[in-house]
Amino acid sequence: MPDNVRVRFAPSPTGNLHLGTARTALFNWLFARGQGGVFVLRVEDTDGDRSTAAFERSIIEDMAWLGLAWDEGPDIGGPFGPYRQIERAEAGLYEKAAQSLLKSEHAYECFCSAEDLKAERKSALAHGKTPRYSGRCRKLTPEGRRKLLDEGQEPAIRFAVPQKQTVSFDDMIRGRMDFTDQAFGDFIILRKDRTPTYNLAVVVDDSAMKISHVLRGEDHLANTARQLLIFNALGLETPKFGHFSMILGPDQAKLSKRSGAMAIAEYRHSGYLAESIINYLSLLSWSSPSGEEVLDMATLAADFSLKRVSRSPAIFDISKLKWLNSQHIRRLESVKLTNLVVPYLVESKFVDVKEIPQNFDRLTRITESAQTNMEVLSDIQGCAKIFGEVTYAQDVVERLREKGSRRIIEIFSEVAAQGDFDTKDEAKDLIKTAGSRLKEEGFKGKDIFQTLRLSLTGELSGPELFYIIWVFGQKEIQDRLKSFLED
Ligand code: GLU
Repeated sequence: MPDNVRVRFAPSPTGNLHLGTARTALFNWLFARGQGGVFVLRVEDTDGDRSTAAFERSIIEDMAWLGLAWDEGPDIGGPFGPYRQIERAEAGLYEKAAQSLLKSEHAYECFCSAEDLKAERKSALAHGKTPRYSGRCRKLTPEGRRKLLDEGQEPAIRFAVPQKQTVSFDDMIRGRMDFTDQAFGDFIILRKDRTPTYNLAVVVDDSAMKISHVLRGEDHLANTARQLLIFNALGLETPKFGHFSMILGPDQAKLSKRSGAMAIAEYRHSGYLAESIINYLSLLSWSSPSGEEVLDMATLAADFSLKRVSRSPAIFDISKLKWLNSQHIRRLESVKLTNLVVPYLVESKFVDVKEIPQNFDRLTRITESAQTNMEVLSDIQGCAKIFGEVTYAQDVVERLREKGSRRIIEIFSEVAAQGDFDTKDEAKDLIKTAGSRLKEEGFKGKDIFQTLRLSLTGELSGPELFYIIWVFGQKEIQDRLKSFLED
């Protein structure tokens, strides 16, 4: 194993970044940071039909948004580039490894057609057997092979899995793992079109990039056994391996859209903060030694260790993610939060994009008033409504025109005329002063608050009253109360 800690995150650009892959990226990142190591981003784009530059861009964008910066990668280069497998394939690196395996007889040419393989598969399934390559071409004589080549048939290259041998390794998370030769058949390492398969490309790259620890999902366990066979056959040093458990949906099935999971970009658009996603992902099969749940990136980097990663599957729970998001929203400084919610207020037409600068102070106050009531940033749209144009429902108007209500509004308006309420403390004082005058006149606290809230916003719920006063200030308070004082 190389001396320095070097880990990699190796997404295939065949889709957007999802929770499962993002967690793999995060755990690799945290492991690298904790060990003073290097975090490599490698794009595994050898599946030409499904890989796209757009998916690569979106994965890179999401990683950057999450704050998972890489030390080497396709966009920034590094000493072990290129970091895109397609470019490494063009440089002939995989072909070279496959040829060397052919030469050392760890691999052989396979001429089976897609139809042959399909028929083999079908028959195995029909006999209740796990489909596995029969090894037909492994048995070809040199003459038989020559003949097929002379006929112009293009061979794929298959790895010859040693028979009656068990592949074992110590998984850093799961302990000892054993795979007998019955676990899988001879597998293709180079396709007929000369492109490498995942298992070959990964071994060549992990070795060339001096990867010390391979940390990925447990769906790759059997691939690790295959890859170890290739490492050994090529005489390469092997990294250490660790496999994370799966993330399951609430229905205990593999996490998917159907179980309510979205792509990272969709969480971003619906108003989740990067720090909440990171925090939530970190708790999917890991727990903090402090027992705390609301954790920032710096704490995670300091506290993360593979020892605390559990082998049991993690269950996705959207309400927990929402709760964490609300906690991280509360922790944000108000100007920063305002900048984050403004796009949602523009979207709901609460404010025109051109009018943001002159309204920024008011928007900050509105944001602060809503801060503890938001689970996602888009909640600001509902919270801000009371500060825009309001129409009072008929029953509210009738209630506010009653004698008692009128008196409450009158006193409040009178006291309010004394200040401008530019600070929250001033707004709190106004409530106190008006409140004690009204109580002296025999009004109950509950009636006072409800009447004031209704007269100012038309609603019975909302942020604390002093926030409403602070957002409106003197003039708007009087404007809103006026109509209830007229005859
Ligand atoms: N490209 C593989 C995937 O997205 C990476 C697996 C690995 O880390 O080796 O599943």
